[in-house]
Amino acid sequence: MVDEQIISRGVRDPRVLAAMRKVPRHEFMPEALRQQAYGDHAMPIGEGQTISQPYIVALMTELLELKETDRVLEIGTGSGYQAAILSELCEKVFTIERVKTLADKARSVLDRLGCRNVAMKVYDGTYGWKEMAPFDAIIVTAAAPDVPSALVEQLKEGGRLVIPVGERFTQDLKKVIKSPSGLVTQTSIPCMFVPLIGAHGWKE
Ligand code: SAM
Repeated sequence: MVDEQIISRGVRDPRVLAAMRKVPRHEFMPEALRQQAYGDHAMPIGEGQTISQPYIVALMTELLELKETDRVLEIGTGSGYQAAILSELCEKVFTIERVKTLADKARSVLDRLGCRNVAMKVYDGTYGWKEMAPFDAIIVTAAAPDVPSALVEQLKEGGRLVIPVGERFTQDLKKVIKSPSGLVTQTSIPCMFVPLIGAHGWKE
């Protein structure tokens, strides 16, 4: 998976590659789909939601430029796989999921794998997690119509926000850097995520 799908497409950060090699992706998949866990595609995880393609997980993680001391917020826990990757690369992960059944499943896999630096809550992540802010980095793993302002507010100066932004079914992956002179937005690749549903996302 790492050589053929991720390095071949240009992801180079050695810490990200090591995390992608280490975390057992099949553990985050429904039993019936585990055979396809390392395929080059997103997969259904129930509740109409998906675990993202491995390459997209690696690319978004690389764009976050994580340091070991960083505190990171993830919106859209889903299976918990992305949170497990983040937990290898930073000090503390805060992850928010709006669907309780998915959050419960993710919590039990993360606990079983010993990811002790991941805090989780069931909530509308478009509000961020104010009590735990500010964050060094924020990753949104569902598609937003715009960048939610609460997330930018909860980013530290110098912080990075990675988020798919665009239409409901097609988006561009954006990286927003909160620099001292203002926000700098870079566009990465076109992508397709399930919608970010919430007060500052799409309506249900
Ligand atoms: N990061 C996940 C993983 O590693 O499996 C994949 C996430 S899936 C593509 C998107 C997730 O975002 C879904 O589980 C969905 O329920 C969740 N979601 C959508 N809107 C949300 C919101 N406002 N707050 C929190 N989670 C949300």
